[in-house]
Amino acid sequence: MAPERQPLEVKALSDWGLGLDRPFLIAGPCSAESREQVLATAKGVAAVPGVKAFRAGVWKPRTRPGAFEGAGEAALDWLREVKETTGLITLTEVATAEHVEACLKAGIDALWIGARTTPNPFSVQEIADALKGTDVPVLVKNPINPDLGLWIGALERLRRAGVERLAAVHRGFSWFDRTPYRNDPMWEFPIRLKAAFPDLELLCDPSHIAGSRSLLGAVAQQALDLNFSGLMVETHCDPPNALSDADQQIDPGALRTLIEGLIFREASPGAALKDRLQALRDQIDRIDEDIAHKLGARLDIAERIGEYKAEHNVAILQPERWEAILQRQLALARELGLGEAFVETFMNAIHEESIRRQKMAWEHGHAPAEGSQASVIPDVGTNGGSVNLAGPQGERTNHT
Ligand code: PEP
Ligand code: MN
Repeated sequence: MAPERQPLEVKALSDWGLGLDRPFLIAGPCSAESREQVLATAKGVAAVPGVKAFRAGVWKPRTRPGAFEGAGEAALDWLREVKETTGLITLTEVATAEHVEACLKAGIDALWIGARTTPNPFSVQEIADALKGTDVPVLVKNPINPDLGLWIGALERLRRAGVERLAAVHRGFSWFDRTPYRNDPMWEFPIRLKAAFPDLELLCDPSHIAGSRSLLGAVAQQALDLNFSGLMVETHCDPPNALSDADQQIDPGALRTLIEGLIFREASPGAALKDRLQALRDQIDRIDEDIAHKLGARLDIAERIGEYKAEHNVAILQPERWEAILQRQLALARELGLGEAFVETFMNAIHEESIRRQKMAWEHGHAPAEGSQASVIPDVGTNGGSVNLAGPQGERTNHT
């Protein structure tokens, strides 16, 4: 059995002692390629308002051998120079205890664990052990595969090693389906991580999600809209000639334009906004109740149809009927400006549940099973699209 989840008890960005706050903006090249490239990029990045930290990969985990694997330890000196000349906080990726030790020796300010390392508990534990007693800030990227447990496990290993200045970085997931993204954002994963650990700072790396310059802005904005605390953006002084991830890197000028074009959100609404927001949330709650009542009514009717079909020995699934319903709803969706894919998914879910309920009616006779939608939907009242479905025997009196 998995151990019970404890709160992480990590420090807020503002308590990291590095002069940080929301939004925490990190920029820099995918890889440290040469001293000139690192310093030229850092100079450009330092001139962009709001950017506090400089990233550069020193040891690059590459999918295939033969690709540029980073300049290695020598590049740590370049990062030290960046810190001295620009005042930017420096960060690099570590994957082994030796990397950690070399970074500590070189005075790198913060470390990150990459998406190919996070899923390996042996590697994460090795890094955590090397960090014991140091309290260097660590950012943990999500594992390359969509597995929340591995992401959480890596964070827990570091926290147990004493790392309190800990944050997570969402960089999307490898996925077998083709999507417009290099790594599918699957926003539900970082949202669930934040729900599990509300105090954990969550950053987004839109560069590795987007994989292209054209999608970068939309992904970054989406992260801010979802209340992320900051961004890590791959920035290179000469992106087309970058030795790794050339398609997704932007130059410092484009970084400035990107940041100026983003809308940064408050973490929580101020007092004046709260009232208005509450009024809108009340409306949403009422609509959600209506939806629940209507779904209850629809499923009760589906069950009745099931009983009728059972009596007359007719198959549950009637494909033409379902096709007609779907087409009508899709036409309505277009008219109302609703996403067709969303309406189709929604209708398919309802259909699946209707079939389940119809089957139930076949198996259990006329009364709805304990705990079914029909038995748990409360009084529909006057505003709930009320449908009186009480049977001839007067059962389900909660539906009057
Ligand atoms: C990187 O940040 O350059 C990198 C290799 O990212 P990831 O681990 O997210 O693929
Ligand atoms: Mn990269």
